[in-house]
Amino acid sequence: MECVVSSTEDKSRTGILNLDLLSCPICVEPFTIPIFQCDNGHLACSSCCPKLRNKCPSCACPIGHSRCRAMETVLESTSIPCQNAEFGCTQKLTHGEESTHEKTCTFSPCSCPVQDCNYTGSCKDLYVHYKNIIHQNPQSTSQRYRVRCDNSFIVKMKISDNLLIGTLYEKRLLFTVQSFRKPYGVYVTVSCIAPSSPKVGRFSYYISYTMDGHTIIYVSTELKKIQRVSLHTPQENYMLIPNSLLHGESLEMRLCIQNFDPKKKRIKTKRYRRSSSKVKSIIEVSS
Ligand SMILES: [Zn+2]
Ligand SMILES: [Zn+2]
Ligand SMILES: [Zn+2]
Ligand SMILES: [Zn+2]
Repeated sequence: MECVVSSTEDKSRTGILNLDLLSCPICVEPFTIPIFQCDNGHLACSSCCPKLRNKCPSCACPIGHSRCRAMETVLESTSIPCQNAEFGCTQKLTHGEESTHEKTCTFSPCSCPVQDCNYTGSCKDLYVHYKNIIHQNPQSTSQRYRVRCDNSFIVKMKISDNLLIGTLYEKRLLFTVQSFRKPYGVYVTVSCIAPSSPKVGRFSYYISYTMDGHTIIYVSTELKKIQRVSLHTPQENYMLIPNSLLHGESLEMRLCIQNFDPKKKRIKTKRYRRSSSKVKSIIEVSS
C-alpha cells in the first residue's frame, strides 16, 4: 500500500510513501500516536511496549519511554482517500483512521435492487439512478410507492413477486418489502437500501396485515439498512403471516416508515387501529 505525501512549500510536488513503513514492525497494525523508540531507533507501538515488558526485541534496550516525534509527524501528514472515493466520498484520512471512517461512511456502495441491473453507487446516487435514469417506467412500482415518512400506505404485492421497491422521496432513499414463502407461512421484511451509517438517518416502522378481521402488526424501532437485497430467509426482523391467514397469492398490507424518535417510547399504530372497526383479533409483535 502506498500513499501520497506532498511538500508544504510546493503543493505541486508530491511523492509516494510505502504505508507498510507506518505500521508497527512488531504487531503490523497501523501506528497510532504515541509511537515509541529505543535508544537505537527501533520502533514499537503503544500497545506492543507493555507486552514486550518495555524491552526492544531487536536490541534489548528499554523501549516505551522515548517517543519518536519524527515518525508521529510523518503519520499525521499522511492523506489517504477513503476507499469510497469513487462513489463520491472526499474525506482524506490519516493512516490508521481508514477502517473507523469506512465503517460509517455514507458513500459505501449500495446495489440496485432491480433484477438484472448491475448498478452500484452511494445510496443517494442509487436513488437518482433508480428514479431518473433507467427504471423510470410508468408501470414500475416506484411511482405507486413514492412515499413520505410518517404516512401509512397500502402495499399490494403477490407472494411470488418476492420483492417490491419503493422510494422514501424526501429522504432520497429506496426501501424494499420482501416476501419469503415457507411451508408454514410467509415472512415479510422491510428494509432501506443504505449503509449502516447513522448520518443516513434512523427509521422505525410498522407493518400490518388483516384477513377476515384478524390483524397481525409487526412494530420495529429499527428499519434494517442493507447495501444489497438478499434472497436468504431472514433470521430476524420479519413479520410472519401463518398459512391460516393467507387466501391465495395476494398480500395487502399497511406500512408506515417513521423517523425514529428516541423520546417516543411507543411507535404510533393507533391510527391504524381506529380505522379497522370490525376487529376480531390483533397479534402485535415488536422488536
Ligand atoms: Zn505494535
Ligand atoms: Zn532496539
Ligand atoms: Zn468515506
Ligand atoms: Zn438499476
